[in-house]
Amino acid sequence: MGLEITHLGSGSGGNATLLQTEEAKVLIDCGFSGRLIVRRVARCGVEPGAIHAILLSHHHSDHVKCAEIFHKRHGAKLFANFTTCEKLGFDPVNQCRIFEALERVQIAPDLSVLPVPVPHDGAENVGFIINSRSNGRAAVVTDLGEPTDELIDHLKGCAHISIESNYDAKRLALGPYPAQLKSRISGRGGHLSNRQTADILEEVIGPHTRSVVLCHLSEKNNAPHLAESETLFRVENWSGDLRVSTQDGPEFSHWLGQTEAEILSR
Ligand SMILES: [Zn+2]
Ligand SMILES: [Zn+2]
Repeated sequence: MGLEITHLGSGSGGNATLLQTEEAKVLIDCGFSGRLIVRRVARCGVEPGAIHAILLSHHHSDHVKCAEIFHKRHGAKLFANFTTCEKLGFDPVNQCRIFEALERVQIAPDLSVLPVPVPHDGAENVGFIINSRSNGRAAVVTDLGEPTDELIDHLKGCAHISIESNYDAKRLALGPYPAQLKSRISGRGGHLSNRQTADILEEVIGPHTRSVVLCHLSEKNNAPHLAESETLFRVENWSGDLRVSTQDGPEFSHWLGQTEAEILSR
């Protein structure tokens, strides 16, 4: 079946992405209530008990809300780095499998992930580079104030990229947030603006890039058409699939390693 990537929803109200291969079903982040996650994975035809693992990017509640409950109720293994595990009060021996930065984590024979550290204030956040045998590489990266050279290098080889495009600089500057919060969001440890995301994509997108999803859009400081047009303007010669993920997924899926006929026959 290749690798299937479905955003179950993204934004400050919650984030979760479902990865499916022949041999594994995995959530990247689990930032909704338990009931909502179960409902959303069910819409993808997946029973909650079939989820093997939950990979946590960092400890902020919009990424981890029901992680512990889901693990206890449905048996999914938790994976996080030590700081995230510690901040959430998880037992690093019995409850959570700890990964190191840039340590390849083998989830199943046909699925491994590489956690790449990214700057995000007060959190040891990681983006995930996903490898699925011969199906190509994918990336899911949110909550970073700026990219690192390491991240850029990893994104360059990806056939699918999900990346945050959090705020429009003008909307943030003119918006209602207090000055301190505005500078935190736009600072090195905050979030990516539409412009920064477009810069990154312009650098990393190539003929091998089949799809891009812009995610974690701010409701107050952004709008889907602003994020989309900023990126489209910068990658105008690219003919892949560009989508915007909103808070109320799942709206669409992307497949790597499948022919058009296989996708249509599902
Ligand atoms: Zn977040
Ligand atoms: Zn965060």
